[in-house]
Amino acid sequence: MISYADVEKLRGMSAPGPVLLSLYLPVPLDPAGLRGLAAMANDLVMSVSAVGPDDGSTAGLSRADRDAVLDTLAAHGREWLGHTVAFFGCAEIGLFEALPLPCALPERAVLAARPHVRPLLAAIQRCPDYLVAIADRRHAWVLLVSGSGVQTVATQSEPGPRSPGFGGWYGLETHRVQQRIIQLGRHHYREVAAILDRCDGTGRHAPLVIGGHHDGIASLLRELPATVRDSFAGSFTADPHTLTPARVRELAGPVIGAWVARREGELAEGVFGGLAAVGLHACLAAVNEGAVGHLLVAREDMIAGYVCGRCGGLSTGSDECPDWGTAGRAVPDLLEEMVQRTLDDNGKVTATRDAPFSVAAKLRFPVTGGLQRTA
Ligand SMILES: [Zn+2]
Repeated sequence: MISYADVEKLRGMSAPGPVLLSLYLPVPLDPAGLRGLAAMANDLVMSVSAVGPDDGSTAGLSRADRDAVLDTLAAHGREWLGHTVAFFGCAEIGLFEALPLPCALPERAVLAARPHVRPLLAAIQRCPDYLVAIADRRHAWVLLVSGSGVQTVATQSEPGPRSPGFGGWYGLETHRVQQRIIQLGRHHYREVAAILDRCDGTGRHAPLVIGGHHDGIASLLRELPATVRDSFAGSFTADPHTLTPARVRELAGPVIGAWVARREGELAEGVFGGLAAVGLHACLAAVNEGAVGHLLVAREDMIAGYVCGRCGGLSTGSDECPDWGTAGRAVPDLLEEMVQRTLDDNGKVTATRDAPFSVAAKLRFPVTGGLQRTA
């Protein structure tokens, strides 16, 4: 499935004008829907091409890019049943990508100078890859869930306590044997925790779900180092020995879904506790000054606007820039431009559902210029 690295690669691409197609297309689960889908894809790309994001410009989608989408859909549609697929095409710069996404997204077509990545980021954020650790006293499995795939990353088995009558164990008091078992257990959970600590090569831990019996979950939680503990998303109870990969995904999926929603809510609330901009105009001013540390975007639809050809300032009107007289260039989505600018400035971006604002930002420093209206 897709990763932040894929997004960064796409963000590095640009066309000489608004001729780069981004198309998000939900593929139906039923193969019978594929024929209608080609017509829908065609309508979507033609609609965006006819309107054109640049006023008065006839520049639009090339036939080659449209055909590439339709040909790929015909060839691979059956592999994508039930998934939303993101297409990025611009023959002029040799770009064509078709990426099945881990989340369902509404259809959207955008023609711009750069790939439209806001929905892509929302999909990675809402349906992240995650780890599931299943542990009991003797065994442990660490699984990676990525999209609809489940793979085993590591397994761990602790040699059990030797049975009475074997070697030096014979004759020990019962409580000492039990102590030994507990120590073995601790050591085992510590080993599993160490495996989880090593499971992430990027320095950014994937969310973690722990499954198993209550005592196994609690024991493993106790041994987690702080860095791994921070990425703990929640747990589910099940008998480890009856679990299949498909069942693990069924049980862990809702845990991750709730964790993602909880984090979105916390971020949306947290914005009111510090230096922040709330609303479109305040956030535009903050982005224009490079003040945004974390951009929270609640609106999913696009907001058309302008970018100044001279200073790069973003605005809702073509005449709002201090560089009066410089023609503003139309952009199809100001929120996308704000997301791109925030990422360029090493800020963070989160899509937030059910937030009490359309867009908000945690700021690195107070914004001096620009309008401070809230919308
Ligand atoms: Zn300007």
